[in-house]
Amino acid sequence: EAAYRFPDRPAIVSADQTFSYADLLVSAQATALEIQSAAIDDAEAIVSKAQIGPRVAIMVPPGAEYVASTWATWMCGGVVVPLAISNPPSELEYVIKDSKANVVLGTQQYEEVLQPICELWGLQLVVVGAITPDCGKGATVPRVPHFAKDTGALIIYTSGTTGRPKGVLHTHKNLISQVRSLTDAWEWSQDDRILHCLPLHHIHGIVNALYCAHYNGALVEFMPSFSPGEVWKRLMRQVNPVTVFMGVPTMYVILMRKFEGLGAEAQRQAAAAAAALRLTVSGSAACPVSVMASWEKITGQRLLERYGMTEIGMALSNPLKPMHQRRAGTVGRPLPSVEVRIGGLGPTEVGQGELGVRGSTVFCEYFGRAEATASSFDRDGYFLTGDTAEVDEDGVYTILGRTSVDIIKSGGYKLSALEIENHLLEHPSIRECAVVGLPDEVYGEIVAAVIVCEEGEPPLEGDDLRVWAKDHMAIYKIPRVTKVLDGLPRNAMGKVNKKELIKSVFPSE
Ligand code: ATP
Ligand code: MG
Repeated sequence: EAAYRFPDRPAIVSADQTFSYADLLVSAQATALEIQSAAIDDAEAIVSKAQIGPRVAIMVPPGAEYVASTWATWMCGGVVVPLAISNPPSELEYVIKDSKANVVLGTQQYEEVLQPICELWGLQLVVVGAITPDCGKGATVPRVPHFAKDTGALIIYTSGTTGRPKGVLHTHKNLISQVRSLTDAWEWSQDDRILHCLPLHHIHGIVNALYCAHYNGALVEFMPSFSPGEVWKRLMRQVNPVTVFMGVPTMYVILMRKFEGLGAEAQRQAAAAAAALRLTVSGSAACPVSVMASWEKITGQRLLERYGMTEIGMALSNPLKPMHQRRAGTVGRPLPSVEVRIGGLGPTEVGQGELGVRGSTVFCEYFGRAEATASSFDRDGYFLTGDTAEVDEDGVYTILGRTSVDIIKSGGYKLSALEIENHLLEHPSIRECAVVGLPDEVYGEIVAAVIVCEEGEPPLEGDDLRVWAKDHMAIYKIPRVTKVLDGLPRNAMGKVNKKELIKSVFPSE
């Protein structure tokens, strides 16, 4: 919607080609016509709190075509439903069906997987062609229309960390609030250039990275998939320097592992390049304190950690400035766009409990799931996040974890799995870990840790860990059961499904 303000500015760099805002708008207009003629009418009336146009499921890799498909959908008043390009056909079918898609957009390489699904559901597949740079040069630039605030704009499916992904409907108002909130908090401007290697079917990659950049006339440089070597190479290139980078914690871990393998001179250059970034953000999952510390040791930069969800956009953030006020292990303070409260606490009290969030960034509804929507809000209209958080006397929040799996109730204590993971990661032999609670007759639950060992460090044996742990954490937090694995199973956003992990690692529990 804001894009027509910067027709001649570069909007996207992808595979060494540059596309202006005008290129994208002109291409989007052509695609919009195709969507209009291919979209079928709704078979049944759609029940929604928002005004809902056709749902357009989009399976297009990161690049100009993805962005133009999004804008095309909005030009015809539709709702964008991004499909995960990494998903198997069964998941794609689930999303297409669940969002009651009226038409499917895909690039040629996905025709084979999408066509049978479309045939099954009587939908047309619009094959999106490659956009040519400069196609908008000299053309009359169309606009994305301005929508009534309660018009549906985007359905994002949650990461599926705790169950089947749910379709989260955001209206144009929700998205604009989210983008404006981050524009202010992180000072986006048209001088920014973000190196984008996040998936484009989650809020992090879509709203925080892509929409924020384009709302402000900035440039998005896509990397087709995350490759640590390529990221370092790009950051080190001094022409058109990157200013912003966003990642999930595992991406920073992988980047640092790659860094270790570089020669001394390359390391110096890489560290300087990372240090020169204006903004480096971590989110989507808790960033271990050890990761934050190592990154700072290498680059002199402290990652900016923030907290958000598909349903609420971003709600809590460490400050952009001054950097030294960013506190590792915390997610900072509420963004001005939301009201945040912890269940059971008064506005100025300190303590912990379930985090609730209210405000214009909060989603409209779980699409087609009126009951699930209703039960996720409390009487005062706060969305109940399912996460347990703690607030201190400075008003700074720490996420203790998901109430359902990360809060371990053991012998009268309520323990945070995330906090114990942070302690364990200080052990030089532990590369990754996931802490869970296992049922126990005496204690209710006991602490268990699934551990991945660091290569090249002495392996953990027998009582080693317990002896070490006594000096590093309270005795009741020490894992009683440990299991070593070669790697942790993580989803596209680098998250571990702990219920599944318990089932596979401790099947008798
Ligand atoms: P599903 O809802 O399908 O189980 P999901 O909750 O992982 O999946 P998202 O909406 O992508 O899907 O993720 C939001 C969740 O990610 C939050 O509820 C929180 O548990 C976690 N999270 C995000 N940022 C942080 C952070 N900085 N620290 C700790 N946890 C975080
Ligand atoms: Mg969730």
